[in-house]
Amino acid sequence: MPHHHATAGPQADSLRGDPPPRHLRVHTHRNLRLASIAAIGFDMDHTLALYDPHVFEQLCFEMAVALLVEAKGYPESLRGVAYDRTAVTRGLIVDRRLGNLVKVDAYGYVARVRHGGRLLSKVERREAYKRGRIRLSPNRYRVVDTLFDLPEGSLYSALVALKDGQPGLLRPSYKTLFDDIRDAIDTIHRDGSLKRRIMADLPRYFVRDPLLAPTLRRFREAGKKLFLLTNSEPDYTGAVMNYILGGEDGAWDDLFDLVICTARKPGFFLSKGKGERIPVDTVPHLPNHRGLCFTGGDAFYLESKLGAIGDAILYFGDHTYGDILRSKKSVGWRTAMIVPEVEEEILAAEPLRGTLADLEEIEDSLEDLGLERDHLLSLPDHEPAVVQELQDRIQASLGRRAQLQKRIAAAYNPWWGSIFREGRAVSRFGAQIRDVACVYTSRVSNLSRYPVQKFFSSTGERMPHE
Ligand code: IMP
Ligand code: MG
Repeated sequence: MPHHHATAGPQADSLRGDPPPRHLRVHTHRNLRLASIAAIGFDMDHTLALYDPHVFEQLCFEMAVALLVEAKGYPESLRGVAYDRTAVTRGLIVDRRLGNLVKVDAYGYVARVRHGGRLLSKVERREAYKRGRIRLSPNRYRVVDTLFDLPEGSLYSALVALKDGQPGLLRPSYKTLFDDIRDAIDTIHRDGSLKRRIMADLPRYFVRDPLLAPTLRRFREAGKKLFLLTNSEPDYTGAVMNYILGGEDGAWDDLFDLVICTARKPGFFLSKGKGERIPVDTVPHLPNHRGLCFTGGDAFYLESKLGAIGDAILYFGDHTYGDILRSKKSVGWRTAMIVPEVEEEILAAEPLRGTLADLEEIEDSLEDLGLERDHLLSLPDHEPAVVQELQDRIQASLGRRAQLQKRIAAAYNPWWGSIFREGRAVSRFGAQIRDVACVYTSRVSNLSRYPVQKFFSSTGERMPHE
């Protein structure tokens, strides 16, 4: 049984002695004092429940292809199309009019464009996006926002390549092509077919994190109220939570003070909703003996049930818009974003730390060399040979910089580079995290590596002159 007391002793407080390894740290944008948090909530899919990305995405991809062939009259030969996980990353934008995947930076400037199986050249890019930037209108663009969106991005890329490569094979326009794919993915989520496949073999589709249950229990023992807030339906929620938290019935019986399924986020944070209590003991694996499980409802109802409001609530989610942006902007909750890519990218970049340091050094020296050259040139009696020598050094540094940049880029996605940045700028995705997430980390259990009442303090933002 959980026991409640507000302050755990130092022993219980910090579980492990060593500082957390870099890829498992919590990164802070806005100061967050866990001692001031009364209730902690969690999204389920891709937040508490970590899908094995390859196996899960492959399944979505294949089921969507099958639906296109069987229900929408697409050619049989589509069944031979392979899922390419590198084709798409989170944060990209689908341009349904031109059949492109687009990466933009924090200011909306178009940095990379993939059409079918290839990247557009700078000239082609400029031709397609004349103003150089994109203004996101929903009838032309769609953002690849969640990990659930990756299979459709990859399938779109593959079908655009097929359409261009074999004229006559795929007649629908680029736009219709995307809408058919989107519809297929939406259908397998809604009609239960995808979830039936997953529930039939949970160990195949989820990665179980042994630190997850202890992490949640520790919060509870420190006196926090815990809640689950998921868009998934009750039966799926029951089956998945049961598997990831232990696999025995009752493994998560006393963990949560409130469980809300079929929540309809982001609407849950935006408007009044009608919540319904799930009748006691009707859904397998869902621990609602105490009548704490609901479907639907809204944030105000949840707050009144929990007895905590606004910034006394911390919510963990993976969806930039549906979980994080809306809970922060509409109801003022504190936010923790789960971004598994942080872990992947830090591990990929680990062997390159020396290279990254070299790059930084070259960039600093390039700025100094440039200033020196400008100054020399401004002198009426400057020596052309000296200027030339400086110019040569700048040229050499630029060449070296390009080499280093290439080596670093190869560690990330071969088409898109890091999902958090674009060249020296932050990517649109990176900027969104910065704007909406108080803290972010790769998985919930990383919190177990910190004191349970930790004060996460931000390093502060720096402007270029600081
Ligand atoms: P979460 O637990 O709030 O992250 O909710 C994820 C739920 O959204 C899962 O039940 C998914 O099946 C569902 N979902 C994800 N993508 C789609 C879609 O395109 N259409 C319908 N449901 C989706
Ligand atoms: Mg989710």
